[in-house]
Amino acid sequence: MSIEVRNISKHFGNYTALDNINLSVKPGELLALLGPSGSGKTTLLRTIAGLEMPDAGAVYFNDRDAAESRIQDRGVGFVFQHYALFKHMVVGDNIAFGMRARKKNRPPEAQIKKRVMELLDLVQLSGLEKRFPSQLSGGQRQRVALARALAIEPSVLLLDEPFGALDARVRKDLRRWLREIHERTGHTTLFVTHDQEEALELADRVVVMNKGQIEQSATPDEIYDTPATPFVFSFIGESSVIPVTVGNGRATLDERLLDLDVGALPDGPAELYLRPEDVTMVTDGGPGIPGLVVSTRRIGGMRRVTIECGLARHRIEFD
Ligand code: ADP
Ligand code: MG
Repeated sequence: MSIEVRNISKHFGNYTALDNINLSVKPGELLALLGPSGSGKTTLLRTIAGLEMPDAGAVYFNDRDAAESRIQDRGVGFVFQHYALFKHMVVGDNIAFGMRARKKNRPPEAQIKKRVMELLDLVQLSGLEKRFPSQLSGGQRQRVALARALAIEPSVLLLDEPFGALDARVRKDLRRWLREIHERTGHTTLFVTHDQEEALELADRVVVMNKGQIEQSATPDEIYDTPATPFVFSFIGESSVIPVTVGNGRATLDERLLDLDVGALPDGPAELYLRPEDVTMVTDGGPGIPGLVVSTRRIGGMRRVTIECGLARHRIEFD
């Protein structure tokens, strides 16, 4: 199923939550909506699901205006940030809920049971169908929520920060596992996160949102290596911004600390954007910007070195 979002705007009072959003999702694509809190990710996802009505624009599923069909007929599986399992129902009944609630084409009970077992196997929870949600870990509950969303055989799967409330270790496991499930089931999937690492690792394509607008929509590599806007650059990965002066095709810092060929940039003040891994350290006296090491820290497999250059502090990471 392809999804086409055309000129969607949404206001809450006089607040603009979505500002003329255009987005195409290819069938089978795994797309991450990435942005800071309040950037409009949930609103966009809910609008695609039909849970929110846009003030302008339309959403098309396979070139058909989604507004023409009822929400329950859109074929959307939704997984929310906070476990929305039915507390009084055991795992098996939670997963079967959508199939049993069907008015038309409700499968026979034996088929429902079989499907529940298959889904439990898919989300690696076989044997836990009689447990209540309260008897599961957070990670297990989110896997049940995903099984429940998949049970209705959705054409589109929408996940709103599904691992947001889990601890770092579990998040990483579930991330890998979601990617595998996506490869096996091939659903068109939109995944909301504010965690850039999660988006870059998981998605075929990352859509970076800010203040109700899309800043960039591109592959993880493109987003990281060729950010389209200063916002994308500073939101993704560690970054240093060095104020420089451009004159006669060269960027300089304090006239002597830095002298770079920048080609055809107009003269005047400018900003130099650096990734920590693009910087190398050399000992005193070599070419480059003199700096003072103020701290070194181990961050997972890397060492992070903070350097003071003039008034600014920069971070560099080493393997
Ligand atoms: P995100 O998911 O990126 O954190 P949201 O889409 O939830 O952002 O929200 C975008 C903005 O719209 C926020 O400033 C939020 O406060 C506002 N907003 C969202 N839903 C409502 C609502 N039902 N009523 C009023 N304001 C809302
Ligand atoms: Mg949200």
